[in-house]
Amino acid sequence: MRHLYTTFGPKSQAELGMILPHEHVFVDLRTPDQPGYGEANPLDVVRLMGPRIDAIRAQGITALVECTTGGVGRRADIDYVVSGSTGLPIVVPTGNYREPWIPDWVRDASQDQLRDWMLRELTEEIDGAPFKAGWIKLSAGDDGITPLETRILRAAAQAGKVTGAVIGSHTIRGRVVMDQLDIIEEEGYSPDRFISIHTQEEPDFEMHLAVAERGAWIEYDHCGRADDALVCAMILKVLEAGFGNQLLLSHDLGWFDPAQPGGGTPRPYTALVDRIIPMLRASGVTAEMIIQLTHINPFNAFAR
Ligand SMILES: [Zn+2]
Repeated sequence: MRHLYTTFGPKSQAELGMILPHEHVFVDLRTPDQPGYGEANPLDVVRLMGPRIDAIRAQGITALVECTTGGVGRRADIDYVVSGSTGLPIVVPTGNYREPWIPDWVRDASQDQLRDWMLRELTEEIDGAPFKAGWIKLSAGDDGITPLETRILRAAAQAGKVTGAVIGSHTIRGRVVMDQLDIIEEEGYSPDRFISIHTQEEPDFEMHLAVAERGAWIEYDHCGRADDALVCAMILKVLEAGFGNQLLLSHDLGWFDPAQPGGGTPRPYTALVDRIIPMLRASGVTAEMIIQLTHINPFNAFAR
């Protein structure tokens, strides 16, 4: 049976309802070589983010996928403390972000070493916290994937092949996603275990469909950041094209930022339930499809 691997251990689909597939509890966009990178007191993060998480639990959200990966301040120990104090299961990735957010040890590691590190985090314990990584998050440059990013992706495909873990990538251009899917296939893994994160950033809608046609997940993660009507119009076009079973919806919001005094001002994760879903219903989207989009798709994408 497939499970979502969370801070509270593996969860079956029956134990879960709505899942937010792309949010952030903690992010540090300074590069790993900067002083103070990734540093914070977990209790300060709880104080700032606890109310944001209480708000989505009150909406019926049953799990949140943390999208902060290596190189941009992943702190699995902080996710663990926030999860424990709010009661919300959080799914944390292994992997590493794109250049220049790559620490020296990742730059110096071989593909096999990177694969073994990801496998260890997915099957034993994530660095610094007592639970397993749920998935693999990485990224590729806007103009194309670099040799170092390719090495991380090949290692991820190898680790994915063993564990079934999904690979999600921050990739802005659809043609770069296509290159990433080619690499995943070369490694013997499957495009249906890949999430094209930030699909909305690709201006050519036909490219969204081309990515979905190859079997990959597409993700509109600008709920609550872009105009609601625009987000809904994009979702409706995907449903009309018949790819409702491959679409993920989230906000890409939050978070505690250690570069800001007191962690900054986090933005809420509530627009999907408060505004987008009611707009979709009003546009004729069935209750069954809403469940598909908010419960079933995120579980199917991230469970292994
Ligand atoms: Zn994000």
